[in-house]
Amino acid sequence: APSEFRYKRVLLKVSGEVLMGDQPYGIDMKTVDVVAAAVAAVARQGVEICLVIGGGNIFRGLSKAAEGMDRANADYMGMLATIMNALAMQGALEKIGVDTRVQSAIPMAAIAEPYIRRRALRHLEKGRVVIFAAGVGAPFFTTDSGAALRAAEMGCDALLKGTSVDGVYTADPKKDPTATRYETLTYQDVLAKDLRVMDASAIALMRDSGIPIVVFSIREEGSLHKTLTGQGTYTVIT
Ligand code: UDP
Repeated sequence: APSEFRYKRVLLKVSGEVLMGDQPYGIDMKTVDVVAAAVAAVARQGVEICLVIGGGNIFRGLSKAAEGMDRANADYMGMLATIMNALAMQGALEKIGVDTRVQSAIPMAAIAEPYIRRRALRHLEKGRVVIFAAGVGAPFFTTDSGAALRAAEMGCDALLKGTSVDGVYTADPKKDPTATRYETLTYQDVLAKDLRVMDASAIALMRDSGIPIVVFSIREEGSLHKTLTGQGTYTVIT
């Protein structure tokens, strides 16, 4: 990648909630298109990029809707939701001319490749955007953990967490006007202060792999490019 970019290969985690846009539920294709355009812009400039998309906009294993359901089964339904989001994102990327592959941790041969680490690495080397679906493929986990695992397996230089807030704050900035944004944090700060950036298991894996986590707002136009080039506002966890 050109030297303008801080990282050569990144994994971008986008939560399902981002994809619902201003809707209360489901997939807002306009928002998916916005995220796809941002990914396309940096991919075209040579940044190797893989995506992990959550499923919370459709189904969560621990949600009210799943009450009374066997936890593992509910989690499998959540994983299926991430596959739907992955296909929506693939469609949006291919529509604007970006080669993509979806790899699912739960094999589903008719619609996606199975997750094969070395094959995913080849796709990245060829400049394709790889979308990892179905998290880690096991219940009792989340897509945050899936994102951390794939970032480590792909040898990513950073794990980018695209949210609706431009970093980690001392309190919820949408509720508390005195909240301030952390420029930097350590993995240990996040775990000890229980800052809920990502799951503890995801944070611990990034700490052990030495991969920085960058929390930024994917809702602002140009923010992905700015974050990758060290402009704009975000929080870096190292
Ligand atoms: N899930 C799971 N194992 C995984 C990834 C996801 O069981 O490896 C299930 C879990 O029920 C979770 C749901 O899929 O609630 C959706 O994922 P997540 O909550 O991480 O989505 P996000 O919050 O990022 O939208």
